[in-house]
Amino acid sequence: MNSAVDDIKARIDILDLIAEHVDLKRAGQNYKGLCPFHSEKTPSFMVSPSKQIFHCFGCNKGGDIFAFVMNYENLTFQEAVSYLAQKAGINIDGFKGDSKIKGLKEGLFAIQREALLFFCNNFKNSKNASAYIKERGLKNEIAEEFSIGYAKNEKDSLFNHLKAQGFPVEQIKASGLVNFGENGNYDFFRDRLMFPIFDLQGRAVAFGGRILSAAKNAPKYINSPDSVIFRKGELSYGLNLAKNAVTRKGYSMIVEGYLDVMMCRQYGFMNAVAPLGTALTPGQLKKLKRFSNKVLLTFDGDAAGVSATKRSIELCYAESMIVKVLPMPAGDDPDTFLRKHGEDHFKRHLGRAVTPVDFLLKTSGKNRLDAVRHIMNLISLCPDPLQKDEVIRELSEKSKTNELTLREELKNMGAKKHRAGDGGHRTDAQASSAGREERLLLKIALSIPHKASSVVNGIDVGEVEDPVIKGIFEKIKTAMKNGSGHDKGLSIERLLQICSGEEQNIITGLSIDPGIDEEHADESIAGCFRAIALKDLERRIKTAGESGDVKSLHSLLFEKKKITQDSRPLLKGGKLERPV
Ligand SMILES: [Zn+2]
Repeated sequence: MNSAVDDIKARIDILDLIAEHVDLKRAGQNYKGLCPFHSEKTPSFMVSPSKQIFHCFGCNKGGDIFAFVMNYENLTFQEAVSYLAQKAGINIDGFKGDSKIKGLKEGLFAIQREALLFFCNNFKNSKNASAYIKERGLKNEIAEEFSIGYAKNEKDSLFNHLKAQGFPVEQIKASGLVNFGENGNYDFFRDRLMFPIFDLQGRAVAFGGRILSAAKNAPKYINSPDSVIFRKGELSYGLNLAKNAVTRKGYSMIVEGYLDVMMCRQYGFMNAVAPLGTALTPGQLKKLKRFSNKVLLTFDGDAAGVSATKRSIELCYAESMIVKVLPMPAGDDPDTFLRKHGEDHFKRHLGRAVTPVDFLLKTSGKNRLDAVRHIMNLISLCPDPLQKDEVIRELSEKSKTNELTLREELKNMGAKKHRAGDGGHRTDAQASSAGREERLLLKIALSIPHKASSVVNGIDVGEVEDPVIKGIFEKIKTAMKNGSGHDKGLSIERLLQICSGEEQNIITGLSIDPGIDEEHADESIAGCFRAIALKDLERRIKTAGESGDVKSLHSLLFEKKKITQDSRPLLKGGKLERPV
């Protein structure tokens, strides 16, 4: 496996790869640009050609070429390897990833594809299903474009079909398309119009099903359960078809239902997508953001639609997305509106989109003060200060509330939140001070390769507080053990290959622009060890004091005095020694 990865690394330079997607400018040793993973106005995304890594100091994503492609194209590691291999012109037929997972995934993709063909074939032969589509005003071409299908009202016709195609029962189980209960197995979707759900690469990964016969107690819509290849919270319906239009138009139009998406497309509004059955999720917004940072919320004109819109505004603010709301007339959704009034009327209606502030003030009824408070709450969620500023100004103007009062209120809200955080878990500041020395040691090990061994030999990895930092130290030890014959120091490239995404983010953040003075590295290392030893002593002194163990207390205090008085680097004969 490593040789394929190494071959690819040798042929693809991270600077060339990222420059295809991000406008990069030189900044000292590194290059800087606007981060492709979060929205920002000043660049905090850095690429290091010498280390072949990237890191964003805004959203804290980092890694090598594989991590970049995994994040940017939403691929698994194996998929990223094949993607880059193809780019580099390397044949990786012999490449074996985690074959068990890979096998399961491939099996599931194949099952969903087979089910899709099966349902589409049923659809062609079902009068009821095509009559329904016609009755809803949808053209055949649109039904075909969305690969609409039909699941017959039969106990196990899909199961039998999949088995006849040679799929193992275990895989059929994992696909979620068949339920296995006490009374045997039965198809999950029965007598339903089938809406396949595609991932961004256009592969069917799941289905939504709408009941066809009206006189049943069954829910109107059901969706496939999550699986290895499908996470409901991360995909939007129709995004595989809409993504280019979203980029082109500069925004995505979020509608409520599958039929809304189809109808919008039929009338030429190609940037429509829908959440999957449930409410909109942060994961779905993050994916949409990759194509545009702007969304237009176009939910139904009923009470449920209004509250869904309110919830969605909140999520959009939390993702720093620019959001507008298109209120639909009561009783209408985009589907019915388009069928009643047609394309031109809908286009004119788009011009009536309002800002969230307008929408919230208008829908809050008589209680204006509550609405203002609600909006203030939303603003406090927003991580982007520029966006915050803009919304406050708008709110002040439209609600006729003094801007300074609003700003003061926002400050108070921030302070309250901060205090609330103090009670339970540690705040960020506390957490970082607890692991400050360990972080600095890690930084030295990462940025001065030949000092790595004195750091990892001197540190007691078991005692490292931060679990992620601890994991990285453990992997550094492994990476150095498995390094070539004589110890040439630590290779970040090799290290990244065995680290998790979270660990990679920390490693690249600490090493891309370390600003460490190599000349004084030994003193820094010794200083860190001394500080760690002191912290440890203080902990033990506290315990001894609390338990009244006077004898231990005395010797511990003596030890502490020794360390604090000794300011010389803790080096003996070139070898580092921990003072305790
Ligand atoms: Zn970023």
